[in-house]
Amino acid sequence: MMGSVTLADGTRLPALGMGTWALGDRADRRAQEIESLRGGLDQGLRLIDTAEMYGSGRSESLVGEAIAGRRDEVYLVTKIVPSNASRRQVPEHCRASLRRLGTDRIDLYLLHWQGAVPLEETVEAFERLKDEGLIGAWGVSNFDAGDMDTLAHVTGGVHCAANQVLYSLDYRGVEFDLLEADRRRHVLTMAYSPLGQGGDLLRAPVLARIAARHETTLGPATPAQVALAWVLRQPNLVAIPKAGSPAHQRENIAAAELALNAEDLAAIDRSIPPPARKVPLAMI
Ligand code: NDP
Repeated sequence: MMGSVTLADGTRLPALGMGTWALGDRADRRAQEIESLRGGLDQGLRLIDTAEMYGSGRSESLVGEAIAGRRDEVYLVTKIVPSNASRRQVPEHCRASLRRLGTDRIDLYLLHWQGAVPLEETVEAFERLKDEGLIGAWGVSNFDAGDMDTLAHVTGGVHCAANQVLYSLDYRGVEFDLLEADRRRHVLTMAYSPLGQGGDLLRAPVLARIAARHETTLGPATPAQVALAWVLRQPNLVAIPKAGSPAHQRENIAAAELALNAEDLAAIDRSIPPPARKVPLAMI
């Protein structure tokens, strides 16, 4: 029932992945956070997204613990902070992430956002990691359509496999141009914070009204499931909600069962209109 995406290198993945920002920050939640990730894998999810920045490595360490003994089931994504993305520092930081993750290979390594290091230099360093087999592919995060154009003209830039950006009902700007631009270049879009970080978005009346019209195998649909199903309707996109508990993980997986109909989508557009013009990319 879960949709899938195919990356430029032929890798096929479920369209739902797992975010991990703030996981590992609280000792009293550690066991349930690990259980949440393992439960996701048990139910067929594969992509886990983390970053060296999250909890200064605590998230990567928790992911390492969660995937110990089942590395082959996982498509592992982590990110490097731009100030670390120089020719000299990239290999050191990649190896530090690998140590925390308890593995010898990252499937997808992302530049977390664009900083002062010239893109040429970071791309060259990423390509070298690929040649050495430390990473399978590389990509970027928080790149707008113009940034993707610039990247495409950098030596090796056409090998960019993914662009991870903010996309939720709260932030629809990428619908104007970026989703299509990524699609055209065979760059996977990864939608971060698709649940509006669990904030006001989930209390939007339109989501409650739509949820009331749908069911999943878990029972009546929830506003969070509607918000997620709405993001997942896009092709060439993986959504990476963060679920800190097995119950939230199950609920998010069941969201993939929801098929929003034309009436639902029209109600959402009336309440939260799509962008009518270019909106600069928002980021968290
Ligand atoms: P999300 O939109 O995924 O929201 C997470 C919040 O929603 C948490 O409070 C979580 O609570 C709650 N939640 C999860 N599932 C449900 C549910 N079914 N019902 C109700 N509430 C739910 O926000 P994030 O900012 O965490 O984004 C997701 C991931 O994207 C991050 O974890 C990270 O991996 C990535 N990211 C990347 C960025 C970048 O710059 N590249 C920036 C921001 C995020 P609980 O924990 O209790 O389950």
